[in-house]
Amino acid sequence: MSESVTLTEKILRKAGDLNVDLIGAIPAESLDEFAGMEVNWNKWGTMKRPSDYVPDARSVVVVAEVAFGPTIDLAVRRRGGWNYVGYKPLEVDTWEIGGYLQSLGYEAKVLPSHLSQKNMARLAGMGSFGKNTLLLHPEAGPYLRIDGIVTDATLEYDQPDETDLCGDCKRCLQACPTGALQPYRIDAEKCLVHQRLHGPDDTQYARLLEQYSPRLAPGAYIMCQHCQQVCPVGEEPPWERS
Ligand code: SF4
Ligand code: SF4
Repeated sequence: MSESVTLTEKILRKAGDLNVDLIGAIPAESLDEFAGMEVNWNKWGTMKRPSDYVPDARSVVVVAEVAFGPTIDLAVRRRGGWNYVGYKPLEVDTWEIGGYLQSLGYEAKVLPSHLSQKNMARLAGMGSFGKNTLLLHPEAGPYLRIDGIVTDATLEYDQPDETDLCGDCKRCLQACPTGALQPYRIDAEKCLVHQRLHGPDDTQYARLLEQYSPRLAPGAYIMCQHCQQVCPVGEEPPWERS
């Protein structure tokens, strides 16, 4: 490869070979302000800094996949935890890019679970927060799966685009079956995703869970996505087109 090709260009080419939907990069320290925030969904404690993963962290590479369709958000119980099947293609691509960085001599920590994925994608210009607290991409709407790689490589960085894509819309706030949403805020304890993952079986939400988070097989559930499905931002999801 020509010496004039920058490291950022090499990573973009690698992502192109892998057919990655979206890729960007942000300075590592831009995620420091979220350290200490609770990791709501998995009760995994609090957010960390990129330098907790790579001591000389300079950048975070953000990798995202557009994931239309309710079956994508499938959670399967395994060894006392939950496995998100729909994330596997994204994880494979992220490992490939992390391995590529390592092959070039850089340190690269793949899938740093205690960094704010939505904020890393926002800072990389992949969208802005919607009232449903999800990241809204102008074309993919609220259907991004996001992961990252912390590295000591210095890259060319993307810029956030804070365009408000919600306007006067309140569809998700009105549609949430448990009233978990306020504009740009979520009561995680009320959300059916949290209830499915962590709630007791005899929860007051049992009937709603059956409707919005159905069981496909023992230990395999579709997560509630109602606040995504009503969102008008982005292309019409394929299951609505027929
Ligand atoms: S996932 Fe379901 S329960 Fe949770 S905020 Fe969205 S609509 Fe409400
Ligand atoms: S449903 Fe409407 S208010 Fe909710 S995130 Fe989408 S555009 Fe924003």
